[in-house]
Order: sequence, then structure tokens, then C-alpha cells
Amino acid sequence: MPAIADRLNNVSISASAAMTQRARDLAAQGTKVISLSAGEPDFATPSHALEAAHAAALAGDTKYPSMDGTPALKAAIARKFKRENNLDYEASQIVVCGGAKQVIFNAMLATCNPGDEVVIPAPSWISYADIVKFAGAVPVPVACPQEAGFKLRAEDLEAAITPRTKWLFLNFPNNPTGAACSRAEMKAIADVMLRHPHVWIMTDDIYEHLIYDDFEFCTIAEVEPKLYDRVLTVNGASKAYAMTGWRLGFCGGPKDLIAAISNVNGQNGGGTATIVQAAAAAVLDGPQELLQERAAIYKQRRDFVLSELAKIDGLKCHKPEGAFYIFPNISGLIGRTSRGGRKIESDTDFVMALVNEHYVATVQGAAYGMSPFFRISYATSMEKLTEACARISLFCAEMR
Ligand code: PMP
Repeated sequence: MPAIADRLNNVSISASAAMTQRARDLAAQGTKVISLSAGEPDFATPSHALEAAHAAALAGDTKYPSMDGTPALKAAIARKFKRENNLDYEASQIVVCGGAKQVIFNAMLATCNPGDEVVIPAPSWISYADIVKFAGAVPVPVACPQEAGFKLRAEDLEAAITPRTKWLFLNFPNNPTGAACSRAEMKAIADVMLRHPHVWIMTDDIYEHLIYDDFEFCTIAEVEPKLYDRVLTVNGASKAYAMTGWRLGFCGGPKDLIAAISNVNGQNGGGTATIVQAAAAAVLDGPQELLQERAAIYKQRRDFVLSELAKIDGLKCHKPEGAFYIFPNISGLIGRTSRGGRKIESDTDFVMALVNEHYVATVQGAAYGMSPFFRISYATSMEKLTEACARISLFCAEMR
């Protein structure tokens, strides 16, 4: 038999996708399952995005796209970076890809040699480590403990950097903890990076607009302009504009790096769909009020879920500054047995018993590189959150 490539040996299937599938299977059997496992806004894509895509299609904008992004979209992205992040990127410093995920994938293929190391604050989005391994590099996790508010501490970062380090990844607000960085915290990270000029920094700012309680988002190239030439600032339409299915991400960075990413992008897909690019330009240049309106709704949900979880014996939650996740610590429940008879020895046991016995789908912390925790996505209705919290509460109370 012909064989599958060795590079797939260490690449896992996403636990969050697996749990979302388990929720779908249970629902197909007629079970009233509540899925808190997907990292996806429950809002609709703004109508002006739909109209722009429609207009582009009708106008015949249906030929091969420019591989690195249309001039109109790049101009809208440059305006976004200036307006929201005070960053100057010209067209030759911007690439458009099929999602932030593809930006990061292309960037790693463009830069990593076998054995290069990529420092990834943990817990982290499931895909980072797999993308890094795809590119032949080695993910190096650095724990951001709950006691530190799930933030990256300067001394831990310093200790993780070696002569082989190629990249540092940053993702604040974070998936799965929701932790964000203040300017002072970001400056402390930047100060470490100033001492290590051989390392690039990829900042995944996809949750930029999901931030609460007047906490101010900041991004490293703006906080420390001396790092500007080493930073790849990544963002996209998925989370801010509820456009996960459109697959639109982009980045700004130094010209040579952008040219290399663009080169990979040209082979890996050949550019993002023209009508999607038209829709993205429309949302970036369009009315921005919806960002605050939606953030206010997410905040209400976060506060509700936090207050419900606080009443549950055995769970310990940190209040997240952003994103739409809560990452409760379940160490108080380890060693107990669920009503259905499952011994809870790990966070995987916990989420499996919860979905099988009470039909609430969440994701185990192990999938993000930190145990024993589980991730709740509150990007769903208050009605579902109310029911889900009641079920989680009962599930924990029934444990012996
Ligand atoms: N980065 C992080 C941290 C994410 O959580 C996600 C989505 N789960 C992405 C990137 C993916 O973004 P996109 O849809 O733009 O590929």
C-alpha cells in the first residue's frame, strides 16, 4: 500500500471538533444536547457583508483573485491597522489568506526549518502546536498558570528561549482562557523579546474586539515599536464580524516576511475568494457599532456564567478579560465518581461524563495543554447558557 506522509504522524484531530461532532451525533439521536464546545459567534454575519459579496458576484468579480489580496481589501486592512492599532502597514506588508489559521500555517511553512522551536504560551489554541509540527518545527509550551491570571510571565518566557527559537506566539485575549494583557504586561513581554533579536513574534489578535469591563486591547508592535520589524500581526473577520464560514484572515508584517508568506499562499490555495474579499472590505470599512453592541452581550453572558459556576463546589474560575471562553479548574472534583459511574481521574473523564450523562458539550483542558480544566464557550443564547449551567451544577452535585 502507498503510505501517508510521516509529517502527519504527530498531528492530532482537534478535540474541540471531536466534541462538536459528539454533540451533533447526540442531537441526531434526538437528545437535547447543548453545545458549549465551538469557538464560534452565534450572531449573524452583518448584512452589508452579504450585500457586498452579492454585488461583487453580480459585477463579475469572479475571476482568479490577486494571490496576496485585492488592492481594495488591502487598503481597508491598512486603514483598520492604523485606526484600531496605530500600526502603519502598506500594501506590500499585508497578505490576505483563508482565515487567520491559514495565515499562521503559511507563515510557519515560510519560515521554519526542521528543529526550529516555537514558544507557545499554554494553554493555547489547539491548532498552534499542530501547525508548528506540520512545518517541521518543535512547539515549546510555556505555562501561564491560573494563579498568574493565565498570563505569560516575563521570567517564564525568558527561560523558554534558546538559540533555536524561531518564533514566539502571542494570543491575548486568549483561547481557551479569555485572558488578555494590559499594556504593562505586554511591555514586560516586549522587554524580554528586545533581548532576543533572533526571534520573530506572531501575535494572533483574532479576539481583539471581544474585550470587557473597559479593559483596553493592545498589540505588541504598537506597545514596543522597536519590535515592529519582527512582528507578524494577525487578525481576521471570523470572530469580530461573525464570519467564521467565509474563511478570511490577514496579517501585517515586515516586507521580506510578507513576501515569503505570500509566496506560500500562492501555492497553498492561490488566494482568497474574490467575493469574500469584497465582503471583508465592506465590514472593515463599514459601521463598527456592532462590535460594541455584541461585546456588551458577550459580557452579560460571561458575568452570568461566572456567577452560576461560582456556586458550584469543586470548580474554581478565573474572570476572563476577553474572548468568549471560561476555563474552570476542576481539581476539586478529581477522584470523585459521576452518577453514571465514571471515575473522574482527568478533565477528559469530566467532559465525557458531562456530555454523556447531562448532554452538555465542553472541551477538556488537556486539548489546550493544561489540566485539570475544561473550556466553556459562552457564544450562545442566555436560554441555553441558563440550562447548561443548571445541568453542570447538577452533574457536579451528584458526584460522590
Ligand atoms: N486563532 C485563534 C486563537 C482561534 O481561537 C481561532 C478559531 N478558533 C482562530 C485563530 C481561527 O481563525 P480563522 O477562522 O480566522 O481561521
